[in-house]
Amino acid sequence: MTNQYSSRKIQTIVIGGGQAGLAVGYHLAKRGISFQILDASRRIGDAWRNRWDSLRLFNPARYAGLPGLPFPARGDVFPTKDEVADYLESYAQHFHLPVQTGVKVDRLSKEGDGYVVSAGSQQFESNNVVVAMANYQVPRLPTFAPELDPGIVQMHSHEYRNPSQLRDGGVLIVGVGNSGADIGIEVARTHPTWMSGKETGHVPFRIESALWRFFLVRLLRFFGHHVLTVNTPLGRKLGPQLISRAAPLVRVKPQDLIDAGIERVSRVVGVQNGRPLLEGGRSLEVRNIIWCTGYHPGFSWIDLPIFGENGEPLHERGVVNRAPGMYFVGLHFLYSMTSATLLGIGRDAERVAKAIESRSLATRSQTPSVSARLKLPAAKLRSELMGADTSNGDAQIATVS
Ligand SMILES: Cc1cc2nc3c(=O)[nH]c(=O)nc-3n(C[C@H](O)[C@H](O)[C@H](O)COP(=O)(O)OP(=O)(O)OC[C@H]3O[C@@H](n4cnc5c(N)ncnc54)[C@H](O)[C@@H]3O)c2cc1C
Repeated sequence: MTNQYSSRKIQTIVIGGGQAGLAVGYHLAKRGISFQILDASRRIGDAWRNRWDSLRLFNPARYAGLPGLPFPARGDVFPTKDEVADYLESYAQHFHLPVQTGVKVDRLSKEGDGYVVSAGSQQFESNNVVVAMANYQVPRLPTFAPELDPGIVQMHSHEYRNPSQLRDGGVLIVGVGNSGADIGIEVARTHPTWMSGKETGHVPFRIESALWRFFLVRLLRFFGHHVLTVNTPLGRKLGPQLISRAAPLVRVKPQDLIDAGIERVSRVVGVQNGRPLLEGGRSLEVRNIIWCTGYHPGFSWIDLPIFGENGEPLHERGVVNRAPGMYFVGLHFLYSMTSATLLGIGRDAERVAKAIESRSLATRSQTPSVSARLKLPAAKLRSELMGADTSNGDAQIATVS
C-alpha cells in the first residue's frame, strides 16, 4: 500500500447509506459487529430527497418502515419522498449508526484475504464489504441524445424536479414506466405533452382506494415477499422478466394519460434534423425531452471478477460465493420481488448480517489465539470476537436500543 493514502482497518464496510445500508447497519450493530457505513451523498436520505418534488411512495407508511423503527405516520398514508429522506436520517441517528457521508468509493479491490476500499485519498481495509444500494445508480440515456438540437432542454428523470425546469412549448416524455407516467401527468398540466413507448401493464385499481390501502397492499406484499422469490418456481420464472422490464404502472392508469391530454406516440429511434425521430418516420418538434429510460447498475468501480455476462453481480441471496466476505443488499430481485423496496429490504439485510456474523465467528475460531480462549463463557467470547478489531481504529458501534 502506498503512503499517500491514509488507511484504516475496519472489520466490515458497508458502501451505501440509503435504506439498504442502514438496514444492514441495524442488523450488524444488533450482533455487535464492528462496521462503518460510507456514503457518497452530502446527507443521509439524499437519494430520496433528490427525486422529483411531487413523488410519493406507492406503499403506505405501514410498509415504509425499516427494522426496529416504524415509519412516523398514520399507517394508511403515502409518505412524500422528503418524509422518507428525513425518516432515513432520523433512523441513523436513532440507532447511532456510524455513517460517514461525502465519501464516494471509487475502487473496491481485493488484497490477500481482505478488501481495499478506496475513496479519493482515503483507503480502508476490511474483511467484509457490503455493497448496499439499488442496482440503478447511473441514468441510462440513448447514444443519440447528444445529436439533438442544443435548443431542446434535455434531462433524465433523475434530474427532473418540477415543470419550472422546462421551456415553454412541447415536452416529449420517453419511457412509460412509473417515473414517465408520474412526470407525464404533471407536465401535461402546463405543457403540450407526448409520451413515447408502451407500458408493461398496470395495477388494475386505484392505490388511493381503501380497498388497496387496507387490504390489497397486504395481499400484494405477501405475494411479492413470500411467493415471488428465488426459492419458488413462479419466482424463478417471473424474476428475470421483472428484472429486465419496467414495472407495471402502479399509481397512474393508461386512461389517466389520455385524460390528461397526453398524446401517445411510438418509440424514439434516433434524430432527424436535430429533432427526435419516432419509429415509423415521424419527427416531433418539441422544446423539452425528459428521458424516463431507467438506469445502469453503475458498479464499474468494483474491480472484482464477480459479474456475470449480463453485467449483474453473481450472488446467492446477496452472498458472493466467489469472493468470500463480499455481499450485496438492495439489488432488484436479490431474493424476492420486494428486495429493492422498503417492503423487503429488512429481511435481506438481516440475512447478510447473519452471514457476516457466521463468517467472522468461523474465521476467528480458526486462529490459535482465539481457540485458546474457548473456555470463556459463550456470550463473552462472542462479544470479544466481534469487537476484536476496535484497537485498529474501527468506528465506535453504538448498541441498538
Ligand atoms: C423514482 C423511484 C420511486 C420509487 N418508489 C418506491 C416506493 O414507492 N416504494 C418503495 O419501497 N421503493 C420505491 N423505489 C425503490 C427503492 O426503494 C429506492 O430506489 C431506494 O432509494 C433504494 O434504496 P437503496 O438504499 O437500495 O439505494 P439508494 O437509495 O440508491 O441509495 C444508495 C446510496 O449509496 C450511495 N452510493 C452510491 N454509489 C456509491 C459509492 N460508489 N460510494 C459511496 N456511496 C455510494 C448513494 O449516495 C446513496 O445514498 C423507488 C425508486 C425510484 C427510482
